[in-house]
Amino acid sequence: MVSFIKYSFKKGLSLGRLDIKMLQVGMLGTNCYIVMDDETKEGYIIDPGGEARKVIDTADSLGLKCVGVLCTHGHMDHVGAVGKVAEATGAMVYISKEDSGALSGSVQGIGAKLGSLVTSKPKSCELISQGDRFEFGGHTLEVFRTPGHTTGSLSFLCEDNLFCGDLVFQGSIGRTDLRGGSMGELLQSVKSHVFTLPRNARIWPGHGPSTTVGAEKTSNPFLRSLGGGA
Ligand SMILES: [Zn+2]
Repeated sequence: MVSFIKYSFKKGLSLGRLDIKMLQVGMLGTNCYIVMDDETKEGYIIDPGGEARKVIDTADSLGLKCVGVLCTHGHMDHVGAVGKVAEATGAMVYISKEDSGALSGSVQGIGAKLGSLVTSKPKSCELISQGDRFEFGGHTLEVFRTPGHTTGSLSFLCEDNLFCGDLVFQGSIGRTDLRGGSMGELLQSVKSHVFTLPRNARIWPGHGPSTTVGAEKTSNPFLRSLGGGA
């Protein structure tokens, strides 16, 4: 397990408010998120999937001190601008071991299937997994392993905000027919790491609008077998 204690000196002193900025990037309208503390301005960029300039300009306009670029998974529509954004911000890139091939170019086929290629690869990345924690400006962001859409899909939980990539969408779920996908694993991931959260916890998915755990328990037709109930 890797422990990111570099930013832990403010642990426990919730200095400021957690700000979340969502911007849509690329041809598939991928949600890229900027998650930051409004006082210290420290924060993370999650899934810069394309349009590096737009992501960098937005981060600059918010005054973001980017302390890391986080990837929910290795599909090209989520990692397409990772290299350029990492270079511009000087931040380290974090991804799961299983999906890290997408950043080194060792994975074939997925890019072609999704109709795009990694246009900018980072110089290096650090591998993260279940239980890793990032601390910034008095906030904690926790890493969960949530396979199903890809083998190495991760979700990031920050104060009742779950950034889940292509695990769950409002009223839908991520594809499981691509390489590394598994419907059984996806349902288990949702059961273990989404449906265990409070009903009012907010889900920030990789595509489409945000939703809540309660709304998806009640009305997501793909998750009915998990018995979320009303
Ligand atoms: Zn994907």
